This record gives sequence, C-alpha cells and structure tokens, in this order.
Amino acid sequence: MSYYHIQSIPLTDLAEQFGTPLYVYDANKIIEKISILRDSFKNVNLKIKYACKANTNLAILKLMRKHGVEIDVVSPEELRLAMMAGFEGSQITFTPSGVSFDEIELAAELGTRINLDNLDVLEKFGQRYGSTKEALIRLKPHVFGGGNEKIMTAHPESKFGISIHQKEEILAIVEKYDMKIIGLHQHTGSDVKNADAFTQAATAILEMAFSFKDLEIIDLGGGFKVAYQDGDVVTDMAKVGEILTSAFLNFSKKYGRDLQLWFEPGKFLVSEAGTFLTTANVVKIDPIKTFVGVNSGLNHLGRPMMYGAFHDIFNASNQNETEKNEYRVVGYICETDTFSWTPEGKQGERLMNKVTAGDIIAIKNAGAYCFSMASQYNSRLLPAEVLVLEGEAKLIRKRDTFEDIVRNLIDIEV
Ligand SMILES: *Cc1c(COP(=O)(O)O)cnc(C)c1O
Repeated sequence: MSYYHIQSIPLTDLAEQFGTPLYVYDANKIIEKISILRDSFKNVNLKIKYACKANTNLAILKLMRKHGVEIDVVSPEELRLAMMAGFEGSQITFTPSGVSFDEIELAAELGTRINLDNLDVLEKFGQRYGSTKEALIRLKPHVFGGGNEKIMTAHPESKFGISIHQKEEILAIVEKYDMKIIGLHQHTGSDVKNADAFTQAATAILEMAFSFKDLEIIDLGGGFKVAYQDGDVVTDMAKVGEILTSAFLNFSKKYGRDLQLWFEPGKFLVSEAGTFLTTANVVKIDPIKTFVGVNSGLNHLGRPMMYGAFHDIFNASNQNETEKNEYRVVGYICETDTFSWTPEGKQGERLMNKVTAGDIIAIKNAGAYCFSMASQYNSRLLPAEVLVLEGEAKLIRKRDTFEDIVRNLIDIEV
C-alpha cells in the first residue's frame, strides 16, 4: 500500500489536487531518519547539521528545526533561508567552497560557525579577526568514498578542504594570528557506502586534532548512502555509529575534553521522503522500444542525466501487476533526458504496470538534489511542492508561472 500512498493519501489524489509535475515529501519519513541517526550515535554528544542544499524548501527547514536538527549552508542565500526558518546564527554552519572573502565576513558578522577551506581564507580570517571570532577548518583527508567520482570530495585531487599534508602551514597561520579554531571538519562526499571510508577519514582528522588546543567540535560531514532500489548497498548506520562512537570517545578521553560530534547529512535525511509525480503525455511505440514521455525532464529532476543515477519509477495510476511492459521513461526537454537508467548506469528501460497516456508516473528518492537543482531550461515552469504533514497534504511552494520566467528580463529596443 505504501508504494501508492503517502501517509494513506493516494499519489493519484495528490496529483489531481495539486496538478503535475509535483514534488511530494513525507514528513514522517524525515522524522524517522532523524531518529535513526540519533539512535546510531546515542552515546556521544551528537549534533545533526542538515546540509540544506539537498532541499531548501522553507517548510523542510522548519521541520528540521522543530525536531532539533541544526543546519549547514553553502551560500549567503541559504544562510538567509535558514534564518527565515528561525535558526539562530550559532545553529548555522557556513561550509562554502571557493567563495569570496566578503561572504565569509557576512557569515561571521551574523554569528554563524564557519568552515574555512583554504589557506588563503584562513590567513585572511586570522588577519581580520585574530582570536575574536571562532572558526572551524575543513580538511581534505585524502580518502576515497568508494562511490561515484563526480560526488566524491575528500580524495587527493578534490578541490574541497585544506590537505592534511599542509598541517604545518595551517598551524603556522593559526599561531601567527592567535586564532581560535574550535572544530575540524571533513566531508567525504555523497553515497559513501563503506563504513571504512568514514573510519579512515575520522582517523585522519582525529590524529590531526591533537595539534589544536581549543577544539570543541569534530565534524565528519555527510554522505550516508541511502537505497535507490531494492537490494541497494546502503551505509550501515548502526555499524558506522558503533565504530565512530568508540573512536570518538577514545579520542575525547585522550584529548582531555568532551567534544561534540557533528554530522551534516543531506541525502540521508530527505532523499527517500520525496516522490516526484509526473503525467504520461505519450506512450510512443517504436519498432525497438516503447517510450513513455512525461510532462517533465532533466530540467526538474536532473540526477539521472547528471550522475547516471538510478531512481525507481512506477505507474501510480495502475496497480494491476498482471500486465507489465518495458518502458523507456523520457522527458519533454529538447535533449536526451532519460529518467530510466539501469543499475549499471546506462539509459535503459523499466518493467512497469501497463501505461496509458494520462497515467501518473511516480519517481522515487526525489527529496534530495532534485527540486533544489531544478532549472527553467526550455523556458519551462518549476514544479510545485507539497509536504504531507500529520496526514494532511500542504502546498509548500506554488508552481511557477510565466511571470517567473520573465521577471528579470529587460525589454530593450534592438
Ligand atoms: C553536500 C554536503 C553535505 C551533504 O552530503 P549528502 O551526500 O547529501 O549527505 C554535507 N557536507 C557538506 C560540506 C556538503 O557540501
């Protein structure tokens, strides 16, 4: 039943009430994931910092806040959204990459925690603030997460973080300006399957940590892998929790202080909560294959074309399992925009309950990096978003109108 419903509301009812294309999020699923994470780290002083670039809808941010989750932002605009959602500066971490120092200053003035991710910025921060403002340092631990290389961020060639091999340079700057470094950070990347990658990264960071005297925080980033299909290898949270808890408690004892352990999950908290509802515009029978063309495309949900990502797809209008066909599910954008990738990372077909034009085609795992990456390409309107909260479907973003497409255009004489 749950396949075709969210909190007992049929997906087809949601499509009818709000129209398609439509992003729908299940608040219960998000709350459940928060408690799984908490349970896995119940023996440490844990703080969860939701990496909000995964999904920045205000209602999602408020839901996180209500459930005691704090927030990680990567741009001044995300910072402002976090403040709109009611987070205080001290609950917000700014973890940008390659931004101008103006943005760092703005975040510092607003009292957020900042992850400094290159030596130049570290030096500027030291010059500007000395010991008057606290900061964290983002390190690059030189580990591989074992997933898709497009979304790995801690390997030797990654642009993110300051290499752990530059420890001497870091310490020289910190000492020169008497800086108060209260935390060390690393983020291995997304879809990190094996517990080992987390352990390796943690080991590298904790070794380094003894060289800093003011630490209060160890921030091990996000990247927990979730299931995109049946039988998917996912991060074993209980195991990661057990291994990291013991490493962390050992470290805290040797360091001589009780520290906070931070994580910044994005995908883990919101991916599975989201379902994207589209309508089948056409069923196109070609000599070789049958296409289902839906009223959306890579403009709204780009992960398949961007990463070769597998998203489960099903016909929400037809629960009859007895007549199934192979379909290549494609979008309406004037590009090849296939939604149905194979588990091996190729464009392919899916076995689905028979599709008729007008059926609601649902795409799963649409809560993370889907709406937040959507664009107006082909001058198409951004979809609406709905949150199902305590059994009730609430509109949390209106569908774009043509006005949104032309809003900033300046109509000059040519
Ligand atoms: C994107 C990001 C995350 C979240 O990654 P997920 O794979 O969504 O868990 C965490 N920390 C930082 C610094 C990020 O940029």
